[in-house]
Amino acid sequence: MTLGTARTTVAYFSMEICLEQAIPTYSGGLGVLAGDTLRSAADLGVPLVAVTLLHRKGYFEQHLDATGQQSETPVSWKPEEVLDRLPERTSVTIEGREVHVTAWLYSVKGVRGHVVPVFLLDTNLPENSEWDRTLTDCLYGGDEHYRLCQEIVLGMGGAALLQELEYNGPVTYHLNEGHSALLTLQLIEQQLGARPRFELEDEDIAEVRKHCVFTTHTPVPAGHDKFGVDMVKSVLGDDRLALLELIGGVSDGYLNMTHLALHLTRFVNGVAMRHRDVSQAMFPSYNIKSITNGVHARTWAAPVFAALFDKHVPEWRKDNLYLRYVESIPLQEIRSTRAESKALLLREVEKRTGVQLDPAVMTIGFARRATPYKRADLIFSDIERLASIARNVGKIQLVFGGKAHPHDGGGKELIRRIFAADERLGGLVDVVYLENYEMALAATMVAGVDLWLNNPMKPLEASGTSGMKAAINGVPSFSVLDGWWVEGCVEGVTGWAIGDALPDGDGSRDVLDLYNKLERVILPMFYGLPFSYAEVMRSSIALNGSFFNTQRMVRQYVHNAYFPDRLATDVSVEETALL
Ligand SMILES: *Cc1c(COP(=O)(O)O)cnc(C)c1O
Repeated sequence: MTLGTARTTVAYFSMEICLEQAIPTYSGGLGVLAGDTLRSAADLGVPLVAVTLLHRKGYFEQHLDATGQQSETPVSWKPEEVLDRLPERTSVTIEGREVHVTAWLYSVKGVRGHVVPVFLLDTNLPENSEWDRTLTDCLYGGDEHYRLCQEIVLGMGGAALLQELEYNGPVTYHLNEGHSALLTLQLIEQQLGARPRFELEDEDIAEVRKHCVFTTHTPVPAGHDKFGVDMVKSVLGDDRLALLELIGGVSDGYLNMTHLALHLTRFVNGVAMRHRDVSQAMFPSYNIKSITNGVHARTWAAPVFAALFDKHVPEWRKDNLYLRYVESIPLQEIRSTRAESKALLLREVEKRTGVQLDPAVMTIGFARRATPYKRADLIFSDIERLASIARNVGKIQLVFGGKAHPHDGGGKELIRRIFAADERLGGLVDVVYLENYEMALAATMVAGVDLWLNNPMKPLEASGTSGMKAAINGVPSFSVLDGWWVEGCVEGVTGWAIGDALPDGDGSRDVLDLYNKLERVILPMFYGLPFSYAEVMRSSIALNGSFFNTQRMVRQYVHNAYFPDRLATDVSVEETALL
């Protein structure tokens, strides 16, 4: 395979990418989105390459004891079994040392055979110092200093490597979150060439900006990296710190990766309409657009659902819009496919925990990163109320999953509270928590439950994607009106809203509405009007599966962000498929 090309290329930079179950180089939603983006870019034939870090020690494997206490162990995997080592080398300068960087190649193959190459950067080379060799080991591990060094490898090393690989055509750099923003520093230095720093002109900045687009992914402060200038000075040196100040990356004594990205890119977007508004209020001096996230339909449709779609709308594999016609599949077939999918989850639950759940009972799923703002235990706010609903209206069983970041004490506490709630409910409502939530388990869970629950604190959920995976499998969402659900919720048609769209400080109004709707609307329909419930299941595929996918999302990136000015006549035959 020849890698370099003189054609236009989009270079997609992401700190984490979920490529497949056997490659643990992601922690959660951001990485899964990145992987789904690449899968759809490959399907559509977008001329795109991706850059990330190797993460030799992965994220971590989660273990939970009988009380829900989490412990972690590194994930062992062998890059040489799933990736190809490239001969090319480049280097970055860290604290005056030259740190050598090499890369591994993974190829994402699309439905029509187009390939998206992914370069996973690696500093574990004999010519590097012991410590430098660990820089590409741990995703979100170590301290701030380690993180800054990783971001130098990703942004500056990644941009340098692409040149080594001879991507010589015009490149559009896509910063998927601010972690890779230092690539703009690399581009500015190239733009300067041999000229001294003080000769940097506004036109130089404009030239770099012309080539860069940025997606911001969260309003939560921890998602926006900042590094104290003293640290930046010791790691990158006086000259580069001065250059970062000149290009607007430094404010209030910090190198702010989000500000750097905002200032050096020509297109900035949030990941849902609501998130755009929230981001616009956070960064009023920039014009922020919206491209709502999606999921890769072929990856997240359970095999039983993929077979159902193949039978009725075989075109869905190449063109996800065909999922719209799922609306004409007979309800009985939707019901029997849902039952098969549920049986697979219940078998997995029994295998992992020994607990036998009842296939006839309303099964609610909740799985995502365990962190306080996601409020995984909201449904247990009033145990008496929940118990009385289960006793009087209809039985409920709950399946949970999700890892807490090793330093997130609040997230770990949440998991323990869920275990405790199971004790308190004393068998009236069965609660299971499945360990080690990752790609394969996520796929089984989103396809296996009857209802997908999501109740984060508004407006902190930028998009959320697990509900979209559920929708593709005919699982309605029951969610607060935040992130994608503001757009995806058609009340009683694709699922149900919890509360209204206003922020709810202490969560009390959300809790009340959650119980009320479960008691008066959802459970009565599930047990009393099973064909009405099946209509909601079917509409979640037809209305939401056909829209909240990365095929639609990548097309929007192509039209609105990557090549906004191009007409069909300007692009090669290969690229025309996109327009
Ligand atoms: C989809 C997914 C997520 C993200 O889920 P959200 O609903 O966006 O929080 C996290 N982890 C895994 C393993 C996933 O598959």
